[in-house]
Amino acid sequence: MAFNIAIDGPAGAGKSTIAKKAAEALSYIYVDTGAMYRAMALFFLREGIQPEDTEKIQRACEKIRVTLSNEKGEQQVFLNGENVNGQIRREEVGNMASATSSYREVREKLTQLQREMARTTDLIMDGRDIGTCVLPKAQVKIYLTASVETRGRRRFLELQEKGEDCDLEKICEDIRKRDEQDMNREIAPLRQAEDAVLIDSSEMTIQEVVDKILELVQKAAV
Ligand code: C5P
Repeated sequence: MAFNIAIDGPAGAGKSTIAKKAAEALSYIYVDTGAMYRAMALFFLREGIQPEDTEKIQRACEKIRVTLSNEKGEQQVFLNGENVNGQIRREEVGNMASATSSYREVREKLTQLQREMARTTDLIMDGRDIGTCVLPKAQVKIYLTASVETRGRRRFLELQEKGEDCDLEKICEDIRKRDEQDMNREIAPLRQAEDAVLIDSSEMTIQEVVDKILELVQKAAV
């Protein structure tokens, strides 16, 4: 049976940076499930579909095929065969992903794909519902969080570094809204699995969190 590590937590907690580093240290594949929800959201945006248009979203799901590949350690996401990695990181796509990830049709499609990957491959998968719903039998489960202020400040610095115009208050407001949507949806809401280890990264460096995860993996593997 493959060894699976599940990392869940709210937006901006540092899941992807940390999961990527831990995966590298373990020579495991890293699967960013948020990117899959973003790819579907990109399709809805391109079609001009509104998040509340249930019927259009349900119908569109039948036309979407999301696939992943790994090139030089970097996950590539394909939407109906097109590599959309360069287009899914925009705020607009993230907000659409958060709004449409509450649909059963969207979740079922991606959950199935995620489970298939985890069945045969040692991997670290991050998202919102990995430990609670996608991989309830994962050998290691982590719930990674940080305060809204810390997450907002990290995002602000990231955008500033890219030379993008940004406002810290607005970023914190978006994070609060995203948390609210992700934690309160009916299907697979974001929450800590009972057997997940809680890590609050507010006062920790990236390396400290990675080391903590590697320690947990070592313990679980014996
Ligand atoms: O992690 P990221 O910000 O890229 O995820 C975008 C959105 O996709 C989240 O706000 C969440 O609504 C959704 N998502 C989810 N379940 C996952 C991963 C992401 O609902 N496993």
